[in-house]
Amino acid sequence: MNFLRIGLALALAVTVSACQKAAGPGNVDARRLEAAASNGEWLSYGKDYNEQRFSPLDKINASNVKDLGLAWYAEFDTDRGQEATPLMIDGVLYTTTAWSKVFAFDAKTGKQLWKYDPKVEGKKGFDACCDVVNRGVAVWKGRVYVGTIDGRLVALNAKDGTVAWEVQTTDTSKPYTITGAPRVIKDKVLIGNGGAEYGVRGYITAYDAATGKQVWRFYTVPNPTGAPDGAASDKVMAEKGNATWSDGEWKKTGGGGTAWDSIAYDPKLDLVFFGIGNGTPWNHQRRSGGKGDNLFLSSILALKPDTGAYAWHYQTTPAESWDYTATQHIMLADLKIDGQDRKVLMQAPKNGFFYVIDRANGQLISAKPYANISWATGVDMKTGRPIETAGARYEKAAVMQVPGPLGAHNWQPMAFNPKNGLVYIPTNVTPFAYTDDKAFSYKAGAWNVGVDFLANALPTDEATLKAVTAMVRGSLVAWDPVKQKAVWTVEHPYFWNAGVLSTAGSLVFQGSAEGELSAYDSAGGKKLWSYKTGNGVIAAPMSYQIGNDQYVAVMVGVGGGGQISAPGSMPTRPRLPGRLLVFKLGGTAKAADFPAPVQAPINLTGVSSTGDVQHGFALFHQNCQVCHGPNASGSWLPDLKRSPILTTAENWKGVVIDGASATRGMASFSRFIDAKGAEDIRAYVISEARKAATAPTTAAPMPAGSH
Ligand code: CA
Repeated sequence: MNFLRIGLALALAVTVSACQKAAGPGNVDARRLEAAASNGEWLSYGKDYNEQRFSPLDKINASNVKDLGLAWYAEFDTDRGQEATPLMIDGVLYTTTAWSKVFAFDAKTGKQLWKYDPKVEGKKGFDACCDVVNRGVAVWKGRVYVGTIDGRLVALNAKDGTVAWEVQTTDTSKPYTITGAPRVIKDKVLIGNGGAEYGVRGYITAYDAATGKQVWRFYTVPNPTGAPDGAASDKVMAEKGNATWSDGEWKKTGGGGTAWDSIAYDPKLDLVFFGIGNGTPWNHQRRSGGKGDNLFLSSILALKPDTGAYAWHYQTTPAESWDYTATQHIMLADLKIDGQDRKVLMQAPKNGFFYVIDRANGQLISAKPYANISWATGVDMKTGRPIETAGARYEKAAVMQVPGPLGAHNWQPMAFNPKNGLVYIPTNVTPFAYTDDKAFSYKAGAWNVGVDFLANALPTDEATLKAVTAMVRGSLVAWDPVKQKAVWTVEHPYFWNAGVLSTAGSLVFQGSAEGELSAYDSAGGKKLWSYKTGNGVIAAPMSYQIGNDQYVAVMVGVGGGGQISAPGSMPTRPRLPGRLLVFKLGGTAKAADFPAPVQAPINLTGVSSTGDVQHGFALFHQNCQVCHGPNASGSWLPDLKRSPILTTAENWKGVVIDGASATRGMASFSRFIDAKGAEDIRAYVISEARKAATAPTTAAPMPAGSH
């Protein structure tokens, strides 16, 4: 035994930790990120560059998880969806909430150290297809980076949350948003954007982490004018991209292809991988005349991080026509396949296929459906293209299809367990009636999808409604990516369930839409522990260690795109403030109960409208349903049937036409609807409210903390 060597190693360890302290909080660099897989911190959105969401901590494990209790919690000032994964670095936990607010807490005690509010204007909520959510920050060399819903990238000082620099990454005259977490690679902050339901042209930008100066930009769809942009994408657009687009509405909408979520990095290959979203409009007929694959929509794109130069791409859904984005979680791992060690990239995009790809060159290794899908029967291994079902493109007739635009899997992150080789996927079953909107023409600032949403009004007949809502559900699937098959499945009563954490303690943690955080045995899926969160969970949990304690943290708060289109598939509940819950073994903290519901049916005695109910029904489903639910079901944003503004025509017009609630995210619709139309919609909602008046009041929230 060489005591001297041990002594030296200890001295070095002390020196290193002293250096980190001297450098101040949040001093993440490439060395720490590349070592993160084996330590108790959580340094980047998916823990590290691999985005495996696997914690090597095992103090909490199958034998003692029953003793997991609340260590501390924090409550936030917003009741919108909470999608962030907190980071834990040097004892500080950083998280974001809806409206792009950033919070820093002492990760052991829960004491709030600072907060930052970018003061996004409420009316910007109008441009967010899927709630004003934010998925988290990046931390690098003493700075905390956040993308805001109004398109800014802000660098904060990790010490106190003050602004170091700020840059507008988007054209503010267009409906761009940012919901995704930035990543920092080689001193460059990478950020994409969203907005492809409305009409924007997607791109990814790299900014100098120290100064905020733009280093490069890569456009994910061609310039509609055909001219070069003077951007990193020019070369590949000329060589590959431009020829895959034909005449169509994309020249007005911008084409979409937004990179709004996944980013992963392989330092050895020096390649950064992005997931690219759907086209604008969705409908390929309307977008590109039904011609061409439309690169790089619904693709996985590999770029060189120094210059943004194109390396390779794999298009999961050529000629995308269903909102089948490939923005979903990209995860890197080393797998043994057919006796060979392969460096793979894995993705379960909305379209329902689980892809295993060689990440050095983009070659497809395998693809199999991880959920029941009806739009394609498989993937042709020679061409890498899906084998589409006849009629799936709804060119001649409408088609009811799974998955719908919410996808068989959405942004909710997966997790990997490198010890047993399984990937844990939160999946959804959400059918949708795709109907060609033959009369489609681009409306600036509105939803521009080229699909007739009227077809997705719910059946009024009780039995059919029950049958449709019974189809909508969600599950947690443990997937073997080598054999490409499910090993176990946990069915949830509702869909739109949370992201996943996997740990070396043989556990899989996942929250649920109905309001529970659970721990499952990673090998067989047996539920070993659960905690009633009092409000639904959609975000992914994370884990960290301080001293001898392992912690599990999760953001609580339903919302996001999924709460909008599946009434009856979700518990009806008043909207509740978001929370951060942090657990440890033997934790004894008690979260306060949420307030009791107050949403009784409104008194409709004497309330009437001169509007046309039928016309209001059509206008509602064309303009209002994506936020207020089909048939005014109001499962996510305010239930209009229970809103006091419904009782007078004047107040209704004040909100819908004059923008009286703009600061809370409900901007004026005067660009799209006139006063007569607004009253027609009111007449329709009153008719739905009268039907609902006989229905029971909303369910009481579950007491928080009961097991
Ligand atoms: Ca989309």
